[in-house]
Amino acid sequence: AKGNGRNSYQFYTEGMLDQEVRRLELDKDLAKALEQDQFVLYLQPQLNLETMEVASAEALIRWNHPERGLIPPIEFIPLAEESGRITDIGRWVVMAACRQLAAWRNGPLSQIKIAINLSGRELDNEDLVDHIQRALTLYQVDPRQLEVELTEEIFIQNIEHNRNQLMRLHELGVHLAIDDFGVGYSSLAYLRDFPVDLLKIDRSFITNITERPDDAIITRAVTNLAHNLGVKVVAEGVESEEQLAFLKGLKCDFAQGYLISRPVEARVLEPLLQDNPQF
Ligand code: C2E
Ligand code: CA
Ligand code: CA
Ligand code: CA
Repeated sequence: AKGNGRNSYQFYTEGMLDQEVRRLELDKDLAKALEQDQFVLYLQPQLNLETMEVASAEALIRWNHPERGLIPPIEFIPLAEESGRITDIGRWVVMAACRQLAAWRNGPLSQIKIAINLSGRELDNEDLVDHIQRALTLYQVDPRQLEVELTEEIFIQNIEHNRNQLMRLHELGVHLAIDDFGVGYSSLAYLRDFPVDLLKIDRSFITNITERPDDAIITRAVTNLAHNLGVKVVAEGVESEEQLAFLKGLKCDFAQGYLISRPVEARVLEPLLQDNPQF
């Protein structure tokens, strides 16, 4: 309701007002968060269902706020998108991911990939691809170890610009994934028109996949379609052994979810992967 004219404010309940105050305070604090190095990169492993080895990890940002503790992205990413601070946060994520890959280069995790999330607002920035290139060069990271996850919004707004940005990224060797696939706009044209390497099937299709035939049928059809186009498939939000076995049966390529691990800091992930090279 914010900003929709003077009358909208009368609909605020007390709780909403508290929320709004919290938002304004957080936005103010966001300005300091980067300088004071308060962001932390959490990583959630993605399991290759053929080899049962961890192939990659998704970078999920957390804000370690000095007073409020660990704040999840849902509370500050939308704010940062509104204020434009998302650009600097995204740049930090790119650097942090490449720094992590460099730190793992000479150990047992040298082949792992890291997937970062980019919003439409970040893709607007002309300098994004150059920044990613600089980060890869600085840390001497193989571009094929970096993946970028994009939500479907980027395929309907600014199409020409976004396509151009993604073509440039793809030419560097960076892999592109469509996030939350199946919810939202779900046009199949962007599978044809954009250089897509991976599809991440939204968690809402996976949660009940073993009980609801419709979810299983959709997941199977999307997986087959993707494979016929040379695109790999990741299932999001896998929480049970039954779901994992079911997805293996569908020939889904990768699984990610609490069953394998919650998002954790790199130093927590390292022993986890070294103790369980295979799940
Ligand atoms: P997403 O990209 O769809 O990320 C998946 C979310 O699902 C993550 O929430 C993850 O913790 C959660 N998740 C993973 N496995 C399971 C599971 O088995 N069950 C359930 N219930 N949830 C699971 P998180 O970390 O809170 O991130 C939320 C969203 O914030 C992300 O959704 C992404 O859109 C955004 N985000 C996170 N980090 C970044 C970032 O660095 N940049 C940008 N632009 N957005 C980010
Ligand atoms: Ca994602
Ligand atoms: Ca997702
Ligand atoms: Ca999402």
